[in-house]
Amino acid sequence: MSRTSAVPITIRQVAKAYGRVAALDCVDLDVRSGEFLTLLGPSGSGKTTLLMVLAGFIRPDQGSLLFGNQEVVRLAPHKRDIGMVFQNYALFPHLDVAANIAYPLKLRKVPAAEAAQRVERALETVRLAGLGRRRVHELSGGQRQRVALARAIVFEPRILLMDEPLSALDKQLRESMQIELRHLHDELGMTTVYVTHDQREALTMSDRVAVIASGRLMQVDTPRALYDRPANRFVAEFIGESSLLPVQAAAGAWSWQGHGIEITPGPGVSASAPAGKAWLMLRPERVRVSRPAEALAQGGGPAQTNRLPARVGDVIYQGDTFLVQAVLEDGSRVSARGIASAGALERIPQRGEPVTLHFDAGDAVLVPEEGPG
Ligand code: ADP
Ligand code: MG
Repeated sequence: MSRTSAVPITIRQVAKAYGRVAALDCVDLDVRSGEFLTLLGPSGSGKTTLLMVLAGFIRPDQGSLLFGNQEVVRLAPHKRDIGMVFQNYALFPHLDVAANIAYPLKLRKVPAAEAAQRVERALETVRLAGLGRRRVHELSGGQRQRVALARAIVFEPRILLMDEPLSALDKQLRESMQIELRHLHDELGMTTVYVTHDQREALTMSDRVAVIASGRLMQVDTPRALYDRPANRFVAEFIGESSLLPVQAAAGAWSWQGHGIEITPGPGVSASAPAGKAWLMLRPERVRVSRPAEALAQGGGPAQTNRLPARVGDVIYQGDTFLVQAVLEDGSRVSARGIASAGALERIPQRGEPVTLHFDAGDAVLVPEEGPG
């Protein structure tokens, strides 16, 4: 299939309420031309509602929606030039694979000979060449998903919308389809809005991720920026694993319970806040654990910053890595993850042992309770 002419999507002040529930609460979002953008949020956060607004199946209570320069908020779904893939595939069980894929072409009155050619190309694109005569019920879950995808792209739409398309598949197939969908997007170049509640899936596939909660966008950023610089506490906790400690600023320096903390500023919190409160976010793979004697040998004195005394709580072996759950003086917990090499496993401290946690300033991130968004 050939590359489509992609368009940007501009969403302005879009709101949709069901009774007293604000499914969408004044959403502003720009999806760039040809971009793969994922809407990520917990169940009930408004992801499907926003996708249905884009598709035209839900009319918002207010707001504007542009595809390129065209206002489409009042345009009927079939006039929007959009391909859609749903979680449950929504294939026609009584039609064969080729007839399923040809359906959108039939609606658009594409002549039969050209339709047959396009169906063949779509089948090749999703790696199902030769299976056009199969019945839908003779296909595996992954193959059905590809048929749904072929049907969504066969008329070369400018925009592709996908609502949790992989959630019915088992883990291995889901992970390989994530990579495949991303390759397909890169090949066809259409503007893509993808919905998932799976943060790892979102990080794996997307150019940018829009984190949504209770109908509000929390942060729109690249996977790396979301993980490294979350805009608020919700994003810090929703994406990846994190430990959060309440820290305070006095006289231009941050501290936790009297221990000096040297940090990299986060969005909305500066490194030298004159006075204030924020959360110190630590990712487990960036926290190191050592016995006090080892910490001294590494050149650290007790007065140095970014060293927190703790005791070992649970130690959890997880095959590729191990997790040490350390308990700080006030009872709060910080997790540290290590690669489970033979040498590292031999040196893991035991439950109850006193240890020092340390981390680089570049890995210590300040997160506000409520961030921009
Ligand atoms: P998500 O796809 O993120 O799980 P939805 O967009 O489906 O979330 O729903 C967002 C909110 O709107 C939820 O609180 C949901 O219960 C509510 N909602 C969605 N559709 C309807 C509807 N047709 N009638 C009433 N409430 C709805
Ligand atoms: Mg949904």
